[in-house]
Amino acid sequence: MKGVCGFVFTRLAGLLLAAAGITGLAGAAAAAGPPGVIEQSDHLVREGYDRPEPALQALLQLQREQEALAPRPAQTIRRLQLARAIVLAQNGRIAEAGMLAEDIRAGVGSGLAGNAADEADSTARANLVRALVAENNGQLDVAAALAQAALPSLQQDCPGPDGAPATTAPGCDYRAAWRALQVLERHAQSRAQWAEGARHLRVAAQLAEAQHDSYRQALVLGLLALDIARQGDMAGALRMLQQAQRVAAPLDDPDVQVRLRLHEARLADLRGEPQQSLRLAEEAMPIARKADSPRLESLVNANLSDLYARQNRPADALRAAEAALPVVRRHGDQRAERVLINNAGLAKIGLGRIAEGKLDLARLAELWRQSGAPGSEAQSLREFGEALAAAGDPRGALELFHRERKLSAEVMKANRAGALKDVQQRYDTESKQREIELVSRDNALKTAALANRELQQRVWALMAAVMALSVGVAALLYLRVREVNRRLQASHANLRLQSERDPLTGLANRRQFQAAMARGCERGIEGALLLVDIDHFKHVNDGHGHSVGDAVLVEVARRLAGCVRENDLVVRWGGEEFLILAPEVSAEQAEQLAARVLEQIGREPIASGTEGGDDDVLRVTASIGYVRFPLPPDDLPVPWEQAVNLADMALYTAKGQGRNRAIGVIGAQLRSPDELKAIEGDFDSAWRDGRVRLHEQPGPQPDLFS
Ligand code: GH3
Ligand code: MG
Ligand code: MG
Repeated sequence: MKGVCGFVFTRLAGLLLAAAGITGLAGAAAAAGPPGVIEQSDHLVREGYDRPEPALQALLQLQREQEALAPRPAQTIRRLQLARAIVLAQNGRIAEAGMLAEDIRAGVGSGLAGNAADEADSTARANLVRALVAENNGQLDVAAALAQAALPSLQQDCPGPDGAPATTAPGCDYRAAWRALQVLERHAQSRAQWAEGARHLRVAAQLAEAQHDSYRQALVLGLLALDIARQGDMAGALRMLQQAQRVAAPLDDPDVQVRLRLHEARLADLRGEPQQSLRLAEEAMPIARKADSPRLESLVNANLSDLYARQNRPADALRAAEAALPVVRRHGDQRAERVLINNAGLAKIGLGRIAEGKLDLARLAELWRQSGAPGSEAQSLREFGEALAAAGDPRGALELFHRERKLSAEVMKANRAGALKDVQQRYDTESKQREIELVSRDNALKTAALANRELQQRVWALMAAVMALSVGVAALLYLRVREVNRRLQASHANLRLQSERDPLTGLANRRQFQAAMARGCERGIEGALLLVDIDHFKHVNDGHGHSVGDAVLVEVARRLAGCVRENDLVVRWGGEEFLILAPEVSAEQAEQLAARVLEQIGREPIASGTEGGDDDVLRVTASIGYVRFPLPPDDLPVPWEQAVNLADMALYTAKGQGRNRAIGVIGAQLRSPDELKAIEGDFDSAWRDGRVRLHEQPGPQPDLFS
């Protein structure tokens, strides 16, 4: 059953994302209309997730009150209608939602003044509702086109990411734009275009942040972490998740907590830590209960059913899926229902209840066909076929494989185009060096994955021929090929991780940094470069043992990762030495970064990992040498090797001055490469005679230690 569920998992991620887009509360200023109405409606949308009827009533009441005002606040009325349509769509009442979309479009209730702005606003809102309806029907292409059409008008006048005021201009409905962006993201995700999906989420996060809406910001950052992970950057994904958790912390909102916990579980699974993943998902259940939201519980159950299936625990998987199914059916959540039937059917086959499993598949195929999603239907056929083969029903398996082959021939064509577009997009929009490297790897992986599919199909064709002789032998052959494929894929993923990561700390290693530099820094380095070296680390090893030393290194690495921004790179440079490259910081920010690193490492003691006694916490400090380029006054381009050298000499000076401090090179007389060589040759005298200017900052002092 194990490898069988890969696709369920992928698709389940879609469910997760879908659900994350559903609720909505909090946020800042009221938009158009009397203060409070928009907030109330936002609150009611969230209430309506679990209890639609009272929420719909209350929204209608609010709308009536607005309609009684003169002049009628048309935009506020449309927002209330949109809110109602969202509650309806979330509860599978898509016919009513569709009718409401037409009302909004035609100005029923709000009146259409006949001006272009009003027209655009009502059309955009109607399109957003239509997009949600299409999504519920499984027509993701249609949904994306509608959301894309709605977005410009919804987003119009929304404050940009940098420093715009927190009040909302009348034309901006960031909540609606946020929702439209998530429709686009789910569409990109359904075609495995992770970079494209991440791009939409970044915009959504910026919109929420500009409005101080931590709830929405945290939700999309959590989703972004998953998209980043799927692009192969696990360290970046973890950093993003931590950022989401930081943003969410002050809210103390069980809804966000559950969703972030589930994302964390998913990341653990992607990292190949299924036990950890299951533990995290199980922890989400009591939080969901606290939220008093049956749908949130069903979301946790849906995830659990998938994770249990992957751990070859079909009985548990079935139990969790069956606990979730009545709830999602009650709320008309067809997307979730499809995934859960898929999981339940696979689990039944895993338990030997083959006939029942086949019935589930028949129902599922019908649902997919209704929604016109041949790709998803093909996936289900593949999964069920593999499950039947594993359960000893090769005849049934073969029949499904034939059906699958026909369907997936069309789908593969479309996917190949999608994969290329995604890669292209990444080249176009992301300038980060690390990203470029990942793209080429990812590309190779995608090509390999496509080749793999073709190989698999050939095996199936062969199976059909051999079947005349012996069905049993063919199935055995197939299972063996599948096992080899699975191992190949696992070792491929492993190799890739090993070549880029330091195994102890999980940080980038020196090789990755050098490769990035070799590709991107021919014209000299830009930004801040910090070398961080733990002070007297040998004493830690000598006094407490090598394994405690290791634990300290891991914790220091974690703290460093917490000090930097998403675009920055933290590298384990050598034993107890780390390098930080922050490409987009000013001289002043470089200084602040150094101060932050000193503080983070030195302020709080580190748990040594040994229980009890005086030994279980340790205090460590670090010394830092840093340089920020271009280096005034001459701004000479400095190759990265020499840049590291300069930082290293500053670090050496910091050690010489007594440790626990940062020394930055803030200026150097560098009119030519020769002057750079001279400084490298004798840094001390260059400093003393003023050719190099240094700035010193102390670390946290012992008497300040708590
Ligand atoms: P200073 O303040 O001058 O930097 O002193 P130091 O003791 O930190 O520096 P030194 O370079 O003399 O010693 C570094 C030590 O780090 C020596 C080495 O055994 C230890 N080390 C290097 N890599 C690892 C590792 O992966 N795990 C552990 N536990 N120790 C390591
Ligand atoms: Mg040291
Ligand atoms: Mg050292």
